[in-house]
Order: sequence, then structure tokens, then C-alpha cells
Amino acid sequence: MKKVALFPGSFDPFTKGHHDLVIRGLQLFDEIIIAVGYNTSKQRYFSIEDTVASITTLFSSNRSVQVISYNSLTVDLAKKYNIRYLLRGLRNTVDFEFEKAIARMNQKLYLELETVFLLTSLEYESISSTIVREIHKSGGDISQFVPS
Ligand code: ADP
Repeated sequence: MKKVALFPGSFDPFTKGHHDLVIRGLQLFDEIIIAVGYNTSKQRYFSIEDTVASITTLFSSNRSVQVISYNSLTVDLAKKYNIRYLLRGLRNTVDFEFEKAIARMNQKLYLELETVFLLTSLEYESISSTIVREIHKSGGDISQFVPS
């Protein structure tokens, strides 16, 4: 059976750190579905449509990667596609505490769901979508933080 992982996130925007995680995740999974979510507590800066379009273009030559958007609970999305694995990234201990809480809650909602964490590659550890957005808002150049 094909091993499929869901990589959910806001991806506002999708950074080199996210890209690296997908590439490395493909060594573990046959297929990765990148799911761009509407996060109710975060007002988006880049639209969902633009984000999905740019990630789709980025992976257009890779048939193992799909890109979708969703506005349900992540566990409901995983159940709908019968996906057993979530892929998430860890940059630091703050991410760890946050991700641990989400993973535990998700597992309560969907027992078979396993969250797989990959440590961020050292070179991308300090990239955060929040800071990239702030730079862009202020007219700065974000090209070194996002995939070309
Ligand atoms: P969310 O709003 O769901 O946290 P994000 O788009 O901020 O969505 O992040 C999605 C996932 O990518 C999270 O698991 C996050 O820890 C991870 N991530 C964020 N930035 C990086 C990075 N620079 N390198 C690797 N993983 C990252």
C-alpha cells in the first residue's frame, strides 16, 4: 500500500524551510499532499488561491506531490482521504511544545493518525513565514527565504 502523508499548514507564504521538509519527507513517503488551510486565528496575507497556485507550480514536475486547500479540521481532511500520517516540522522547542499539543489532540480525534516530525535543516531553521510576511509588507526582498 502506498504511504501517503498530509503536510498541513498555513504556508503564508510557503518558504524554503517548508520546501526542504517536503523533499526530505519524500524519502519516507510515496506521496505527500500539501494542504493549505484556512487558520481561523490567522488573517492571511497571501491569498489561499495564490499560495496553492505557486506551490503547485513549484512541484509541477513532481508527480508525488499534490497541493490542495481546505477549511475543515485537519483530522477530518485526513479521514476523508484515508490518510494515516501527518508531516510537520520542528525548528525549536517552541515548535516542539506547540506541535506536541496539536499531535496529541489530533490523535484523540483520529486514533490511527500518526504525526511524523522532521527537524528543520540547519540552514532554514530561522526562516518563519511570519517574519517573511513582515519583510514583504515593508517592501523588503524575500527571495532568499522562498523557493524561486
Ligand atoms: P501552521 O499555521 O499550521 O503552523 P505553518 O505554515 O506556519 O503552518 O507551518 C507548517 C509546518 O511547517 C509546521 O509544522 C511548522 O513547524 C513547519 N515549519 C515552519 N517553518 C519551517 C521551516 N523554516 N523549516 C521547516 N519547517 C517549518
